[in-house]
Amino acid sequence: MGRYDGRVAVITGAARGIGFGIASRLAAEGASVAVVDLDESAAADAAGRLPLTDGAKAVGVGADVSDAAQVDAAIARVVDELGGIHVLVNNAGVTRDNLLFKMTDDDWDVVMGVHLRGAFLMTRAAQKHFVEQKYGKICNLSSVSALGNRGQANYAAAKMGIQGFTRTLGIELGPYGINANAVAPGFIVTEMTDATARRLKMEPEELQRLNSERNPVRRVGSPDDIAAAVAFLCSDEASYVTGQTLYVDGGAKLG
Ligand code: NAP
Repeated sequence: MGRYDGRVAVITGAARGIGFGIASRLAAEGASVAVVDLDESAAADAAGRLPLTDGAKAVGVGADVSDAAQVDAAIARVVDELGGIHVLVNNAGVTRDNLLFKMTDDDWDVVMGVHLRGAFLMTRAAQKHFVEQKYGKICNLSSVSALGNRGQANYAAAKMGIQGFTRTLGIELGPYGINANAVAPGFIVTEMTDATARRLKMEPEELQRLNSERNPVRRVGSPDDIAAAVAFLCSDEASYVTGQTLYVDGGAKLG
């Protein structure tokens, strides 16, 4: 018996990277899964690759999490096609890195739009169902960059904002049987960190090596490291844990 048997999980930005890792883990533990991503065909393709257990279903849904109408339609479609919603993972993310004096209005607005407005819209749409059924699990993706990172004023502000958002969800939604937590990854090998390497004019492997060397556990992370933490926080084993941010970073933030 899996921890997620009979549950429906919605994971945003799950066509690849950390989101796909989370979707795979929850599917392997019994969940039916909705892969929400900007490109519907990439979402459907990812949904088709999930390790579903008997009787579980998966669907790929194209939606921009920063667009209220698309978010409401996506949640309605998931409830209709998968029979409900029990878990929401707000994972969709983008970076628009630049030093403050070069950062454009658009760099700021896009990052706030996807991370903060996106998590707000998805959570507002999902909580209607969670409150009604007196059950729900929310996990938001923060980052070690919330603590400050050169070239990421927009992203750091959004990722620290996610932590305040998560604490408030814990307070407001706790009485309705809903838990909300955040995971703050350190360096995880995905297309996002590959793009960071290229922006720094480095090969991805070189940036990974540098990050491994200065990490207390002497390695970089993988989507599976984050998926394991999310799978715990969204499970019934964590029903007395809410409003928390768990750093999954090999100890990087220790200094
Ligand atoms: P990734 O490989 O770039 O994947 C992000 C996914 O989100 C992509 O499939 C992307 O779609 C999708 N997406 C972007 N904007 C969207 C929108 N408006 N609506 C719906 N989907 C959207 O990134 P990742 O590394 O897996 O990161 C996942 C999350 O972890 C992000 O929140 C990120 O900030 C956070 N995080 C990552 C790291 C790391 O080291 N990788 C560290 C700390 C935190 P497109 O490809 O179509 O743009």
